[in-house]
Amino acid sequence: MLLPRRSSPRTYIPAYLTLFKSGELAKREKLAEQHLENCDLCARYCYVNRRQTTKGAVCRTGSSAIVHSFGPHHGEEKPLRGWNGSGTIFFSWCNLRCVYCQNWSISHKGMGTAVSASEIAQMMLSLQSKGCHNINLVSPSHVVPQIIAAVREAAEGGLRLPLVYNTGGYDSPEALALLDGIIDIYMPDMKYGNSELALKYSKVPNYVQVNRRAVKEMHRQVGDLVLDENGIAQRGLLVRHLILPENLAGTDSVLAFLAQEISPSTYLNLMAQYYPCYRAEVYPPLDRSITREEYLCALRLAEKYGLNRAVEY
Ligand code: SF4
Repeated sequence: MLLPRRSSPRTYIPAYLTLFKSGELAKREKLAEQHLENCDLCARYCYVNRRQTTKGAVCRTGSSAIVHSFGPHHGEEKPLRGWNGSGTIFFSWCNLRCVYCQNWSISHKGMGTAVSASEIAQMMLSLQSKGCHNINLVSPSHVVPQIIAAVREAAEGGLRLPLVYNTGGYDSPEALALLDGIIDIYMPDMKYGNSELALKYSKVPNYVQVNRRAVKEMHRQVGDLVLDENGIAQRGLLVRHLILPENLAGTDSVLAFLAQEISPSTYLNLMAQYYPCYRAEVYPPLDRSITREEYLCALRLAEKYGLNRAVEY
């Protein structure tokens, strides 16, 4: 059952505005740029100089971000989409390689266009002018410096919307330190409760350890999700967990962690929409959707662990 917490929009100030006014955001921009030269911006730790090459960078992204598309999104969680939509900016490439990726042409093949920080800032301001409730940064982990530069410029141009960091959850402490005080709403996936399965299905090492450390840090920075008087998200943590066939996602382990080490009031989207995509057909049991019973089992686990803000969209 959803137990909304509310704050008045009259008192709302996006996190980055304080840093912008103090000059800290400009300093953070410079600091973040330096990380591109020996990249530790996600937990892959490629240590590549992305100003010179993308060779050896799992995310295949150099000094410019690549954007597939941007626009109001009406399919996100209700506190994000509201009535005017969530202002989504969809970054190309990804630091994960999920065999069941639903956006594989964007995340695995890099479909999109290289853009400058100024162009991203203009996208943010355009989304604000359309009435979107937030700026929703999709697959942002590998483009943290480009995002910070854009936010600084957009803040100067009048951006006042909350920022949503919509991540696969394989974020490094170094990147999260750069984002501290900039991001209003962290929305990480918690994809697995078992790192061996994460390696098999998302080609990523130590996912569980990295993911849990990241979620703890995100919660430390922003706390539980706070909604305004209209039910729109203002600040806090929103976790997504995609239920996989035959409990490959380790739902029991993930939910126990959230309840016991984060907060029983964690806003949790238990996602039931899995369907086979990309190469899933050759990775049974990922070649089928989940059953009704598998979904009900996940709901019972949320109840068992006392997660009182578990919802499905
Ligand atoms: S962002 Fe991650 S995947 Fe990309 S180069 Fe840096 S460490 Fe590697």
